[in-house]
Amino acid sequence: MTVLIQRTAHCQCGHPIFFRNHLCLHCGRALGFDPDQATIMSLEAGDEDSHVATWRGAGASVAGRVYRRCANFSLAPQCNWLVLQSEGVHQELCRCCRLNRTVPDQSIAANALLWNKVEIAKRRLVSSLIALGLPVASRVSEDTQQGLAFDLLVGAEPAAITTGHEQGIITINVTEADDVTRETIRNAMNEPYRTLLGHVRHESGHYYWGRLLDGSRWHDPFRMLFGDERQDYTTALQHYYCHGPALDWENTCVSAYASAHPWEDWAETWAHYLHMVDTLDTATGFGIADNHLSLLQDPFDESVLCCNDQEQVRPDQKFLSFVNRWSGLTSVLNEFSLGMGLPDFYPFVLSSGAVTKLHFVHRFIEAFSDSTTPPAAAT
Ligand SMILES: [Zn+2]
Ligand SMILES: [Zn+2]
Ligand SMILES: [Zn+2]
Repeated sequence: MTVLIQRTAHCQCGHPIFFRNHLCLHCGRALGFDPDQATIMSLEAGDEDSHVATWRGAGASVAGRVYRRCANFSLAPQCNWLVLQSEGVHQELCRCCRLNRTVPDQSIAANALLWNKVEIAKRRLVSSLIALGLPVASRVSEDTQQGLAFDLLVGAEPAAITTGHEQGIITINVTEADDVTRETIRNAMNEPYRTLLGHVRHESGHYYWGRLLDGSRWHDPFRMLFGDERQDYTTALQHYYCHGPALDWENTCVSAYASAHPWEDWAETWAHYLHMVDTLDTATGFGIADNHLSLLQDPFDESVLCCNDQEQVRPDQKFLSFVNRWSGLTSVLNEFSLGMGLPDFYPFVLSSGAVTKLHFVHRFIEAFSDSTTPPAAAT
């Protein structure tokens, strides 16, 4: 089985290395992540006569590629992503960091750790988006019309900053990188799960809805499955916060909040799909034979698959295998968490109705993925 992103590999010294590492703890070699090749790797020093330190990766798949480190490597994000030297010296930031339009004020010492945590979540998200073949261009420097940008905001009054998406700009209330702050909000909102990674995945769903789905051949099928998004958004949200979720949300949505409005349903389903892709891919990369895990429920069958454009439902065994592997894996991981006195790893139960929407997201992403990417590193 192949993996989408090689989050674990071996250094040239043979020691295991991981997605987040920048240094091999065994031999001291520099490590870096190439987002286009979707792999973490050990590096060798490049040309010595260059003004900026350059690096070369080991392995046939990256032969001939000369890199520099992202300029945010030495700043609070401690970014371990690589920038291709061929992009030119003006391109100092990696594909993830160049998405930032606003970053926290670095003259305030306390912001460093908060920014660092947000970037860890962002790198996890962006690595998946690139590997899935979705368009990832900076609205700041690469595609000012349709690109994506982040405003990472810290304010004197954190409650005044709302995490959200509008016109290609994802705003993140960086204060939520503080665990106490975020847990306090999670309890107040009665949510089973609230993380920075969940936030950025959710908001990216709003971005791609506008970027790729709105007005496309997927729009009418979207309305049939998720509902008509033209219903007033502000009124719908007010209703949700005053009266709670729709009574049948557990049968139709991945989360209670998803029932607030079709746009939120889409963004929540999108976020869960990315949770599943990343975690299952990681399980595969680490050699966890999740297809042998016992299911606590009957496996999902063809009746949960969605159809589109009056097409006949075609048996999408790849998706059914994907969602049933997820059920098995999360059953076990929830027991692991309980065994350590921690909350559920995945505190959700997927209904057939929610899985149908996940299948829609799956088909949508597959349709827009560039067939030439990802490189699908072999395990
Ligand atoms: Zn090493
Ligand atoms: Zn970076
Ligand atoms: Zn939302």
